[in-house]
Amino acid sequence: MSFNFKIKNFVAADSNPATGLYHFVATFSDRTQVRLMFQKNPEWTLIGTNRLLTVPCPVCRRDYYCNCMSKYAPQFEEQVLEGELYNTVD
Ligand SMILES: [Zn+2]
Repeated sequence: MSFNFKIKNFVAADSNPATGLYHFVATFSDRTQVRLMFQKNPEWTLIGTNRLLTVPCPVCRRDYYCNCMSKYAPQFEEQVLEGELYNTVD
């Protein structure tokens, strides 16, 4: 297991204030990129993870779709909520 959970960069990808749905792209220090889908109401909650295919999966090394990142959803959510990263983007 060489996956580094630290989010190094966090940007907004898509947002819909009317529905409270926000998509972000988190880049980790090993360059893995994961799209994180949040709903804002009643509180920020991670509702989906989707690894971008920019680099192979750090867990299974596949360069196509896999489901590995969903296992780490709780850690992703915790980092975003603890750091209030959603406040760092427009
Ligand atoms: Zn994988």
